[in-house]
Amino acid sequence: MKQFQYVRSHPGDNVVALISGMPNGAFIAGGTTLVDLMKLGVEKPSELVDINTQPLAHIEELPDGGIRLGALARNSDVAHHQLVRTRYPVLSEALLSGATPQLRNMATVGGNILQRTRCYYFRDPSFACNKRVQGSGCPAMEGFNRIHAILGTSDQCIAANPSDMNVALVALDSVIRLRGRNGERSVPFEQFHLVPGATPQWETVLKRGELITAVDIPKSSFAANSLYLKVRDRASYEFALVSVALALEMADGKIRCARVAFGGVATTPWRAVNVEGVLTGEGPSEKLFERAAQVAVEGARTRGDNAFKVELLQRTLIKALRTMLARIANSDGHQGGTR
Ligand code: SF4
Repeated sequence: MKQFQYVRSHPGDNVVALISGMPNGAFIAGGTTLVDLMKLGVEKPSELVDINTQPLAHIEELPDGGIRLGALARNSDVAHHQLVRTRYPVLSEALLSGATPQLRNMATVGGNILQRTRCYYFRDPSFACNKRVQGSGCPAMEGFNRIHAILGTSDQCIAANPSDMNVALVALDSVIRLRGRNGERSVPFEQFHLVPGATPQWETVLKRGELITAVDIPKSSFAANSLYLKVRDRASYEFALVSVALALEMADGKIRCARVAFGGVATTPWRAVNVEGVLTGEGPSEKLFERAAQVAVEGARTRGDNAFKVELLQRTLIKALRTMLARIANSDGHQGGTR
């Protein structure tokens, strides 16, 4: 591991100003991804600024009925928070499907948003990788690419975004709050991560030295009816091959509002607006689900080992739709019985 300087911030420090004097500095919070990548020689910061002392671990209700997650809120605390479990079950389920209890106790909201790909070649500096060194090549294209993306890829990079939490947050219309040297700004979650295109080294719109301070999730009519369905090679401590975040609002037997996002299959947390369009305003039926599944994989590009993800994504989406509607019917039945 390359030597680095550890800088522990103090409460009240302006950590954004502090890191601005460190051209190769990085913030560290939970460290569950960053330290691994430093050991592998992928990340090589000269300084690490520890921000765990900053007052950013809050989980609070907003006046408009939404919720704010501080960037230092631990994944376990968010997943088990009563407001999250009742109003945004998709987020709780996504978080609890990721990593292990020990990792979730350490990992933060901000770190999870910035989680980097599990592409084998990216994590091994003995291989070329366009994401690590622009223009050096992408061995995953013709190599072993079973875990790689089929949506949002380019001829430069096909690495999948590994986060479960991100998939839920993009489905919930979340907004990321940032603090930089020039003040604060907000970015819709959907616009935060970048598809690789010709510049796979740029993964987000975060500027150098900018700090994620919080994520705001708005109040919504659909989020309480939501779920996260994840398919993986083993039941725990495993990344998604395919995942679906789904939220539905029903009215008069029809889908009034739908939110759909995919994980494990795309280079970014993938909001499936085309699928939402197919579902909205329609009465649920197997025919409708099949149509949604067809649309879900429009534009997919496979590379050999990951071709199975096309059908797996379609099946997972259909299962998520059936499961969500069964849950809604069950809850309506319970409510009906108590009237
Ligand atoms: Fe690097 Fe992306 Fe290719 Fe993986 S898929 S080797 S991250 S360029």
